[in-house]
Amino acid sequence: MILEKTQIIKVSKNADTAEDIEKLKFASDVIKRGGLCVFPTETVYGLGADALNEKAVKSIYEAKGRPQNNPLIIHLSDVCQIEKYCYTKGVTGLDKLTNLMPAPLTVILKAKENVPKATTGGLDTVAFRIPQNACARKLIELSETPIAAPSANLSGKPSPTCVKDVIEDMYSRADVIIDGGDCEIGIESTIITLCEEPPVLLRPGKISYEKLCELLSDVHVSHAVLDSLKPGEKILSPGMAYKHYAPDKPVVLLRGKTDKKIKYVNEKALCEKIAVICYESDRDKIKCKDTLCAGNKDDNEAYAAKIFSLLRQTNTLNIDKVYAFLPKDTSGISLAIYNRLMRASAFNVIDL
Ligand code: AMP
Ligand code: MG
Repeated sequence: MILEKTQIIKVSKNADTAEDIEKLKFASDVIKRGGLCVFPTETVYGLGADALNEKAVKSIYEAKGRPQNNPLIIHLSDVCQIEKYCYTKGVTGLDKLTNLMPAPLTVILKAKENVPKATTGGLDTVAFRIPQNACARKLIELSETPIAAPSANLSGKPSPTCVKDVIEDMYSRADVIIDGGDCEIGIESTIITLCEEPPVLLRPGKISYEKLCELLSDVHVSHAVLDSLKPGEKILSPGMAYKHYAPDKPVVLLRGKTDKKIKYVNEKALCEKIAVICYESDRDKIKCKDTLCAGNKDDNEAYAAKIFSLLRQTNTLNIDKVYAFLPKDTSGISLAIYNRLMRASAFNVIDL
């Protein structure tokens, strides 16, 4: 930390009042001086530092307890900055993706030499994103540098999507925490690499696999999106190798017909202290006091928006295990919910 104490500053959603700009100038000054600043994005809160300052980047890894080989995403404020840090010439499909930006979409390209290896985790590629969130983009613009930012959680824990969860993990680790309210999307950006032919989806998110196929015609899904890696297998995205997003208590996923899932948890509730993450319509039928609602069955965007805060909420309950109902398929944003829950549970799924 470069400040003596963590400063918490509140900024409005549009980050456009004179007061907001003054506060963001203060935060950008911290970034320029090599400090750490937590900021809101439309996906999850990020723990940011100057992506071109190796020492500052190293302090991100320290604050999170993150393995140094797990690369960081650099956040830009405008598409015109992409070619400063990435080789873009002749990359098929890039224009189709940049047309969507700003977006909850991260693209991996070959890195230019000015991007420190500390930022890329030693790789010759770099992941970049232009966030939609106005406060995030203003902070990057005022900092006059790309901001390297992983999610603002301690390594392995669920990502923070509200300022309360940020404070829990990052108070006294970051210099500044910008409170920009709740993150609307609630799960991290979609990650696609254009360094492979055809492009490979490494992490699903709000920009869906179906949307990417529509734009790029052929996209492969890394099998690590839904499966654990085989021993010795080449890892395209180091983040995929770890158990991730896990609350304190073990998570078990239930897949299958709703009535079977309800029967299963009701039997378990007789002999175990459990919490159940389920849809609103199932809640009344579950005979356990700690049911956490993931929204309507036909609105998995709501499930995505809540998933990390629900997982964190289970830490406050007097329970031994968490059961979570999986969406009925993996289309659209449900693929991202599957991906995060698979990691939160260390691939512990029961088919009913
Ligand atoms: P987070 O740190 O939670 O924001 O997640 C960032 C994700 O981006 C991690 O899973 C990283 O492994 C992945 N990532 C960042 N840069 C690269 C890169 N150059 N190649 C592959 N994956 C990357
Ligand atoms: Mg993360």
